[in-house]
Amino acid sequence: MPTTPPHGSSAEPPVPHVRVAVIGGGFSGLAAGARLLRYGIEDFVILERGADVGGTWRDNTYPGACCDVPSNLYSFSFAPNPTWSRSFSPQPEIQEYLRRCAREFGLLPHLRFDHEVRAARWNDAASLWELETSRGPLTANVLLAGGGPLSEPAYPDIKGLTTAFEGVVFHSSRWNHDYDLRGKRVAVIGTGASAIQFVPQIQPRVGHLDLYQRTAPWIMPRTDRPFTAAERALYKAVPPVQKAVRLGLFWGRETFWLGFNGKHPGMVRRIEGIARMHLRRGVRDPELRAKLTPDFTIGCKRILLSNDYYPSLEQDNVDVVTDRIAEVRAHSVVTADGVERPCDAVVLGTGFQATDMPMAHMITGRDGVLLADAWKDGMAAHQSAMTAGFPNLFFVIGPNSGLGHSSMTLVIEAQIKYAVDAIRQMDRHDIADLDVTRAAQDAYNARLHAKLDGTVWVTGGCDSWYLDSRTGRNTTLWPDFVWKFMWMNRRFSPAGHRARRWDQVREPRPAAASVAPAAGRSTEAEGV
Ligand code: NAP
Repeated sequence: MPTTPPHGSSAEPPVPHVRVAVIGGGFSGLAAGARLLRYGIEDFVILERGADVGGTWRDNTYPGACCDVPSNLYSFSFAPNPTWSRSFSPQPEIQEYLRRCAREFGLLPHLRFDHEVRAARWNDAASLWELETSRGPLTANVLLAGGGPLSEPAYPDIKGLTTAFEGVVFHSSRWNHDYDLRGKRVAVIGTGASAIQFVPQIQPRVGHLDLYQRTAPWIMPRTDRPFTAAERALYKAVPPVQKAVRLGLFWGRETFWLGFNGKHPGMVRRIEGIARMHLRRGVRDPELRAKLTPDFTIGCKRILLSNDYYPSLEQDNVDVVTDRIAEVRAHSVVTADGVERPCDAVVLGTGFQATDMPMAHMITGRDGVLLADAWKDGMAAHQSAMTAGFPNLFFVIGPNSGLGHSSMTLVIEAQIKYAVDAIRQMDRHDIADLDVTRAAQDAYNARLHAKLDGTVWVTGGCDSWYLDSRTGRNTTLWPDFVWKFMWMNRRFSPAGHRARRWDQVREPRPAAASVAPAAGRSTEAEGV
């Protein structure tokens, strides 16, 4: 890597420089790296705070962690995997898949493990992002933020949990595998996508399990099954077959959008009917069933899939507690009705900081504006990709790019296609930096929120992590078919952006560099 002049005294070592710094070595960072290489852009690093690739799939090792999107769709379009063992992949297989992608696409020389990005400041005079990482400073012309919205655990603010409780506490995404739950009295807080996967796994092991439920989720049957050896052999020998299966899954899921857009109440009722029947079949006790019956429109929160969650709650060692938690004492949890339940361990299935991302508190753009301040009324970006005042910063899974009905890998690839196309256009026209105008961003968001207003996420009568708790606005989800998101992002459109050429930049342009030779597979075969 070449270097830029040090920020401080001349005795300090020079600061390494790259054309592109990618934050995060999960699905987003790896897809970004693969695409950059495909277009011959070798001068980049992927900064990963952990010691391995995988992001959320490295961190979420809780028992039963599994994908709730079919494997053949929850993978890169350019890297089909004929060896998936099941129709819904377990976490270790996804993690292994990502490791393999990192190797096969030649990304290992670009990965910088144990590099936590602690701050990123835009230097307008030099057209650079100045990064502080746990391993020292670095500058980059372009920053690709692929840290993921579901990477920072959300810890509940419950009286006594961190001060009075003398047992063990851990979050589902930071599972404490050293703690043996066998025979213990365990309190689980939360009944979201993570909890419904680990509760049935730990229930047979624990002595007693109190499940603290604030809102009953809608749960649909999970149509998971192992792939047969013949299927896998066929996928391997005739890749178009797997591609066709993927396309079928993609278009099948596109129809789910009709259930979310608020225009097909009959379809929503039918889906709720299936979920109610699933509850009736899974839980015979009418009192328990009443507790587990949701009170909002299906789809308002993420629809969960499980066949073993309901039956596990009927077991003798489980109580579903719906009273609000008032406090946690040294060895117990006390609910608002005054009942005190003893417990040895608290497992938090309380989700992630999705609408107030910690990343926003460490990125400073033009004129010293902190991203968190620019987003004080909620996250907002133009096409989910760029926020005004933060030049050359591209988000992957940016504001309003999440999906309630399909695979996030599609969104990730689309956003990277857009960002890398922007970088290529910059190179072609000798542009140092690009910044979206506030007017373009506002106009885009006005259209987006008009579309969101009628959806079940806004009208469905629930509170969810999709909504910003400060404003009640949905700042996380894409309100349309996925193909439209993919189409919108097929290439970078300079309209509504300010561009500055290198000859207009005050400080000298840093030399280009090749991080390392990186031979690997090409991403040529991408698409859906
Ligand atoms: P989540 O869906 O946000 O669920 C958090 C749960 O904790 C909710 O039941 C919530 O109750 C409860 N909660 C939060 N704070 C609480 C408090 N102070 N007191 C009591 N209860 C509290 O989190 P998650 O289950 O980790 O899932 C997050 C997202 O990760 C999912 O929506 C999904 O996108 C992703 N995920 C995906 C998979 C997969 O298979 N692909 C698996 C796991 C997770 P309320 O409902 O009342 O807010």
